[in-house]
Amino acid sequence: MGDKRLLGETEPIDRYVWNMVMDNGYDCVFGVDINDGSINFYHVYKRKQPGSAYSKIESIGAPPETFEQFMGSLYEYVVEEEQACFKEQLRVDYICNEINERGNFVRTIHMNFIGERKSKSFKIYSHEAEPDKLLGFVYDISASLDHDWMTDEYARLGFLENADRMLQEIPIDREQFSLVYTNIKGFKAINDLFGEQSGDMVIFQTRDILRTLLKPVIMGRLENDHFVLITRDEFLNEQSLRSLASQTYSEGFKQYDFTIRCGIYRIHDREVSIGKMIDRAKLAEKSILENVGRSHVVYNDDVRVNYVKQRVLISDMNKAMEVGEFKAYYQGIVDAKTGQIESAEALVRWEHGRLGMISPGEFIPAFETGGQISSLDRFMIERIIEFNTNRAKECKLIVPCAVNLSRIDFYNTALMDYIVNMYTDNPIATEYVRIEVTESAYADLEKNASDYLNRFKALNVKILLDDYGSGMSSLATLENFEFDVVKLDMGFVHKIGLQKKAEIIIKSTIELSHALGATVTAEGVESAEQLEFLRDAGCDHIQGFYFYKPMPEEDFSKLLG
Ligand code: C2E
Ligand code: MG
Ligand code: MG
Repeated sequence: MGDKRLLGETEPIDRYVWNMVMDNGYDCVFGVDINDGSINFYHVYKRKQPGSAYSKIESIGAPPETFEQFMGSLYEYVVEEEQACFKEQLRVDYICNEINERGNFVRTIHMNFIGERKSKSFKIYSHEAEPDKLLGFVYDISASLDHDWMTDEYARLGFLENADRMLQEIPIDREQFSLVYTNIKGFKAINDLFGEQSGDMVIFQTRDILRTLLKPVIMGRLENDHFVLITRDEFLNEQSLRSLASQTYSEGFKQYDFTIRCGIYRIHDREVSIGKMIDRAKLAEKSILENVGRSHVVYNDDVRVNYVKQRVLISDMNKAMEVGEFKAYYQGIVDAKTGQIESAEALVRWEHGRLGMISPGEFIPAFETGGQISSLDRFMIERIIEFNTNRAKECKLIVPCAVNLSRIDFYNTALMDYIVNMYTDNPIATEYVRIEVTESAYADLEKNASDYLNRFKALNVKILLDDYGSGMSSLATLENFEFDVVKLDMGFVHKIGLQKKAEIIIKSTIELSHALGATVTAEGVESAEQLEFLRDAGCDHIQGFYFYKPMPEEDFSKLLG
């Protein structure tokens, strides 16, 4: 065994070596000789009242003499996902290498010990006074990983473990319980507008309101703004859920409305693990679409099927791009007075090999979740440029085309840089590629993301506000950014001739937009009556099936002549 100069000898080592690694509250300090791998325990913190864990440990046998023996005897307790890494990395040569490169070696290893999950931190250093020795520490950090110190609720691990134990005890066959996963809609905006401290206050407010309204039997915070809890179904009533959906955060004179969205998994079956229940409740929460006005979804087969379908579309995407299944369609937009085409909107279509034509409404949300949306939008921009450049070369008429950008695109620096460069380098682009952003996407953008719109605008690019009036329209959107075009949502247009109030709103929106220096395009115009009303109300441009449907590039090219 190596000498004990570094810290001085303390006590002889016996089975406590394992006890400390397995139990809460134990820690140890050891030295390793890097030449022969021999190990030497300088200090082992002993628990005063040995718990049930001891019986198993006692059967282990003699204390380890080498580091390899020590790790080898721990190996069987390491959770399966970490076993390979444990075997490969907790070796003297590997550790020495890492210390040479970084100056230290730190790993957190999770272990299952007689049904209890433990988290152990291994920290290993070298000291220049004794270059042949490694000095190691093991800490039990289970408690700090189990607990969320900020909200004083369980953290992920603590929730998983304790919820599992609790489910064994609660009478799920006599009473109905559900697991709820929550998401604060608008959380990013709060952080951005008021700072992180206010973000923290919103998290506290959410914790308190969840506790008051849903009376959880157990609750935890998974990460950021996501809580998870188990409660009796009687507390998940319409009234509570409605109240969760309309929360207000106020700070001094500032106020911000936010929604606590819930994905709900009904617990019928104890065989489903807590981890799976969380996944399912999360899936339900993710299936709540923007602007639909719902704030909770209960997990069921539809949620699952829809998810599977979305996964299929996501996994087909790259191949589809390679074989050219995505097509840019163009819908002509006309001057309200003359009926002449003045611009167009580019709309993507997927001619799927197996599934036939799929509309963007089906795959765009999937690509937004899967992260492929930005390559698709870049593809659309490239198509527009190519189309217009070819026509320009042939001295044919070209009209500006608008591309739809997703909220996610503004967080993709590569795409944003590509667009900025495109506008800087290519004169055709500035005039003939316009940017459409929906009202709800704009409202969700954080400051640094919306700054890109200012950069485009400074390069003289026209920016269009899409679907105005569809969701939580706010005059602040018009106040905060100088949009060149306001696109009136078809929901309003379709009420022309049917609802007086909608007509009044359309008229005043047109006036308001004009007063702010924007022109107005009406979307979804399908009848002569709608056209006439809009023309009389001073609407500048018309988009809709009454004039043109979205059409393939060749057809649109013929139409332009
Ligand atoms: P949007 O940007 O508001 O596009 C207008 C939608 O209205 C298109 O649906 C268009 O086909 C449809 N439309 C046009 N005129 C009429 C009409 O008279 N009556 C009716 N009922 N509908 C009309 P589409 O092509 O299915 O696209 C749906 C949405 O998908 C678009 O709404 C846009 O938000 C998104 N989208 C489409 N292409 C792209 C794309 O390349 N990238 C991104 N990020 N989103 C896209
Ligand atoms: Mg659009
Ligand atoms: Mg639109």
